Amino acid sequence: MQDATLPRPALLGIDLGTTNSLIAVWQDGQARLIPNALGEVLTPSVVSLDEDETILVGKAARARLTTHPERTAAAFKRFMGSDRQIELGTKTFSPEELSALVLGSLKQDAEAFLGHPVAEAVISVPAYFSDEQRKRTLFAAELAGLKVSRLINEPTAAAMAYGLHEQKFERTLIFDLGGGTFDVTVLEYALPLIEVHASTGDNFLGGEDFTEALLQACLKAWQLTPEHIEAQNLASLCDTLEQLKCKLSEGTQSLNWRNGDSSYEWSLDESGAVKIWEPLLARLRAPIEQALRDARLKPRDLDSLVLVGGATRMPAVQQMVATLFGRLPYRHLDPDTIVALGAATQAACKARDGAVEELILTDVCPYTLGISTNRGEGISGAFSPIIERNTIIPTSRVQRFYTTHPQQETIRIAVYQGERPWVRDNIFIDAFDVPVTASEQIQALDVRFSYDINGLLEVDVNLLDSGERHSHSIDRSPTGLDEQSRQNSHERLATLKIHPRDALPNRTLLARLERAWTQSLGDERERIADWLDTFTTVLGSQQSEEIASHRSQLNKALDQLRL
Ligand code: AMP
Repeated sequence: MQDATLPRPALLGIDLGTTNSLIAVWQDGQARLIPNALGEVLTPSVVSLDEDETILVGKAARARLTTHPERTAAAFKRFMGSDRQIELGTKTFSPEELSALVLGSLKQDAEAFLGHPVAEAVISVPAYFSDEQRKRTLFAAELAGLKVSRLINEPTAAAMAYGLHEQKFERTLIFDLGGGTFDVTVLEYALPLIEVHASTGDNFLGGEDFTEALLQACLKAWQLTPEHIEAQNLASLCDTLEQLKCKLSEGTQSLNWRNGDSSYEWSLDESGAVKIWEPLLARLRAPIEQALRDARLKPRDLDSLVLVGGATRMPAVQQMVATLFGRLPYRHLDPDTIVALGAATQAACKARDGAVEELILTDVCPYTLGISTNRGEGISGAFSPIIERNTIIPTSRVQRFYTTHPQQETIRIAVYQGERPWVRDNIFIDAFDVPVTASEQIQALDVRFSYDINGLLEVDVNLLDSGERHSHSIDRSPTGLDEQSRQNSHERLATLKIHPRDALPNRTLLARLERAWTQSLGDERERIADWLDTFTTVLGSQQSEEIASHRSQLNKALDQLRL
């Protein structure tokens, strides 16, 4: 029986983004965004190790990307699922440990907002995230002390929020270009049913690549190579280019930059940027075409187009989409917040709460899953699909295979995902050996793949002669990591000191002022130095009202300078 005095578990949705992360809660029949310690709903997915070895997450860490690049990490979602280690000062982190720190910060914000501990959330992932990337996301949540009630694909989350808001769409294409990933989803609303027909994408294409392309172009124009630029100076240039990219829609942008004794200038307008971005814009087309093909639709069959993700603010991207579809995309809802709102809506849907009680969502497996087999005599390494891409999930599919020779004692089941005929070109997921009782005959086996609603896979092998069954749940070990590495991650995070939440507004302003000083020159720099001195003195006074008033004024002044 449930204790009536205990608060009901909060229905939370988290958008764990490459660039920014958000948390939303379902309250009083609607999804609401939860503000962080600064009162803002976007928390940059950036982690920094402060001078006193405490961990900073969010805007303060974001500002330190310029001033302390060797102690700060951003865009680590791009490495989720890989074994890459990221150094912050003297400490080393995995991408899932850094993601856990972001999730921990969002969890704290939710607890402060709701006034009670939270333990569970729906977390969104790019539709095109692989099995391993999903498992690492689950592990990041575990490290942050959060149970994941469901992993939801980002465009599907967006679709849920849009669907509820609009209550009218029929066939829709969701174009989701975030900081690091690109997803295209074709779906159909026939409320209360939301049916995903196809999801495709590119896990290595996002707004960050557009900034990187600008960096390469300006370095080429200046005949410089990144290796010859000091890390902090290069970070400052990247930061300036990121801001320039976001202001291109306002007209031609110029930048001045110093490297040692030399100064450099560069100016760029939208059409110049489009030329630089041509290869990236071209890469956006293939997943769109494939999603439409898989959904058996033509562009004219779509009733609407929805843009999601911060990078869809780029006019070049909007123009490309408008040209491809011959119509303007629908984008009156905020592309930054829609995924978190949809994830909270999904949490409510799962809990069968209020307005969403009736909503039924079907999703798809965005890629083909299969095993490595021999094709013909002596040709090994062929990819045999078991679940084809864009099959509705949950799903369970079976295929029959045979041992390759008599007296065989084991069968190796190697699981891959991808769309290429040879496993070497696809993504390896897992492998295991199934023992067989040796016999004179070739033996038959049925391999069953069951793919659940979170996008996690289970493999069952049934040996037909002996009737033996072997089950291999790929999601039961929540990462490809061994028990020892998982334990190490838990211990490493437990020993970290996290910067106190209530001190974050002041710490963030100091970090912003330092960054602004680094980025400015001359009179402006002197003015910022004065602000930095004044604020440091005011902080020493420990007068909370005075501190708050100075903080507010200086934050406004920095906003006006766009620093
Ligand atoms: P998201 O992961 O959805 O938060 O998207 C972040 C990406 O959107 C980053 O690469 C940003 O540079 C990009 N972005 C955000 N706002 C703009 C803008 N106004 N113009 C161009 N790109 C933007």
